[in-house]
Amino acid sequence: MSRLYDTHCHLDFQAFDDDREQVLENAKEVGLGRFMVPGVSAEQWPRLQQLVEQFASWRFALGLHPWFIEKHSLNQIDELEQALDKPKERLLAVGEIGLDATCENSELQRKLFIEQLKLARQYRLPAIIHHRKTLETTHPLVKQHGPDSGVIHAFSGSYEQAMKFVDCGYKLGVGGVITYTRAKKTREAIAKVPVSALVLETDSPDMPVCGYQGQRNEPARIAKVLDVLVELRDMSKESLSDTLWQNSCELFSDVPSASSGHVSG
Ligand SMILES: [Zn+2]
Repeated sequence: MSRLYDTHCHLDFQAFDDDREQVLENAKEVGLGRFMVPGVSAEQWPRLQQLVEQFASWRFALGLHPWFIEKHSLNQIDELEQALDKPKERLLAVGEIGLDATCENSELQRKLFIEQLKLARQYRLPAIIHHRKTLETTHPLVKQHGPDSGVIHAFSGSYEQAMKFVDCGYKLGVGGVITYTRAKKTREAIAKVPVSALVLETDSPDMPVCGYQGQRNEPARIAKVLDVLVELRDMSKESLSDTLWQNSCELFSDVPSASSGHVSG
């Protein structure tokens, strides 16, 4: 079976405290071999790192997510820098960072986003970028301050918007959104951009795939996202999953393991 990489899931969240091992077991059954778990607040980073030590398949990122804006302060940028300055195994990105028009304090959001983009650039780490109704304001900031690689998490937008990021060397996170036929614009964009720009994600426990609304999302449902993507891209499942695996490893400079059956280059 091909290996899959969930490039965005919050497996450290409390929502998984009761059955984390089972959730990982379910994920293994659909071929999920690696998970990128992004940080969301300074208060949560220690717990995240503690869990990463328990699970060899996890990779992680550190960042200040706009959803938790009331917990953040500019002082935490120094904390982030100190953490990035000490090399840590499997710390492969800066994230989850970004702008969210539905959250408070857009001025602080913007300052934190810029500072975190700069740190990602300084430490040559890809950025994991959150957006909501903010793609247009995000792009110039990424271009001016950001690293030369990263991922637009849960991409939702037009082909033109997608290509602006792809042209900057960024990848697009493809998740539950494309399982809804009403997401016409996003599905068209994902069908048309270069396949080398795509990576799979679930955003578990959020963003349920079609048919599972109202339930906690979990990484195993990535199988459904992959099925829809196979249809949209008109590629065989095998070759599409191989490509997505390699795109994900390339995004995070995560060395593909020999057992994956791929020629690494
Ligand atoms: Zn997230």
